[in-house]
Amino acid sequence: MALKPLDIFKYLPKTNCKECGFPTCLAFAMQVAIGKTELSKCPYVSEDGKKQLSAESAPPIKTISVGNKEKINLGGETVLYRHEKTFYNPTGIGVLIREDIDENEIEEQINNICNFQYERIGLMLKGEFIGIEDKNLGKFLNIVEKSFNTGKNLVLISDNVENLKEAVRICKDVRPIIFSRNISEELIKLIKENNLPVVINGNTFEEISKKVEELNNKGIEDIIIYPDNKEISELFKNIILIRRGAILKRIRTLGYPILVIPAYLTTDYLKEAIYAGIFIAKYGSLILLSKIKGEILFPLLIERLNIFTDPQRPMTTSEGIYEIGKPNENSPVFVTTNFSLTYFIVSGEIENSKIPSYLLIQDTEGLSVLTAWAADKFNAETIANLVKKTKIGEKLNKKVLIIPGLVAQIYGELEEELPDWKIILGPREAANIPSFLKNVEI
Ligand code: SF4
Repeated sequence: MALKPLDIFKYLPKTNCKECGFPTCLAFAMQVAIGKTELSKCPYVSEDGKKQLSAESAPPIKTISVGNKEKINLGGETVLYRHEKTFYNPTGIGVLIREDIDENEIEEQINNICNFQYERIGLMLKGEFIGIEDKNLGKFLNIVEKSFNTGKNLVLISDNVENLKEAVRICKDVRPIIFSRNISEELIKLIKENNLPVVINGNTFEEISKKVEELNNKGIEDIIIYPDNKEISELFKNIILIRRGAILKRIRTLGYPILVIPAYLTTDYLKEAIYAGIFIAKYGSLILLSKIKGEILFPLLIERLNIFTDPQRPMTTSEGIYEIGKPNENSPVFVTTNFSLTYFIVSGEIENSKIPSYLLIQDTEGLSVLTAWAADKFNAETIANLVKKTKIGEKLNKKVLIIPGLVAQIYGELEEELPDWKIILGPREAANIPSFLKNVEI
């Protein structure tokens, strides 16, 4: 939760010495509160003040970082509802490999979590975790090794501390998450020596809070909460209570990311996917599914993408040239803005037309065509600059540029800006692109 200027001001010496670069201590406090400068710029804040302020300004839910090459943050959220500000760290999604499934299925599931990935609006959407469940059948370490070689983040689920020691030796570079229902002194030693995050389980938020406090007292701060309920309704209720306790009541022992494993609630993998959908929306920080299939993973990744975007900032596509179909030197060039929805609709309709084309996307900070034009961010000059900057003309024999029908006003000016191009006014609605392309002479 953000600190108020007066919360900060009370820890300042109020001498107005200006060493921080601000005329008064109050002015400095105001700038710290809005994040424009750092508390450390004042050399006179006492150690106690620094400790107090950093504790107060820390997010109510701790951020836990895992991974090696691709670092993933779990938790770190500050609000109950996305529209209040934004959610920051997308729910991690992964596969749960149980030691007692057959070898082919293990292989298939590990391959699926690695291979199913989808490019959307310039982002690569994929699952990031493999959870490995030890059932003391002797295959656990072998699966850990295989999973570690994929580069995915790992969750080691075992009550056998000796197996966990061996597993950590194999994969400690990815900072695996340890989930054991038997947190012995020996396991605590292993966790502390390797600085690993640990999962604690409990049926109620009171039990969870108590267990977290015990671990905190032993010097362990990187904790993930696993509400150990067998009924979906109980689990849902507990997760809401934990989140509300952390955000609204600032109960520190509840302020940790939450792990959800739907496979422990149902044997139906489709139901698992539905539960995963619920907990992506409501406060799951990491979800492990027993089956990864394209038809399950893709909608969950899209849901996650939508929930974990900043509602105050439109989704954007990267500026540049996009090829739709296999365009050649005689293909037309469409131009539009980088509002993701615009990109999706226009590229989809060009694809529907079956006429290979280039699509030039201009960065308008996520504004749609008319809004960008009204804000003077999408006009003859900006489009001409983009055409020159991308050197798209060098790919073409016939330089034909199709502009959105909504910005007919810029037609004449654009002809002047790009004298060696044939400018064509496209349809006002993207849905008309296929019929437009059939009838227009390029
Ligand atoms: S350096 Fe510290 S004491 Fe001096 S004016 Fe700035 S905030 Fe006040």
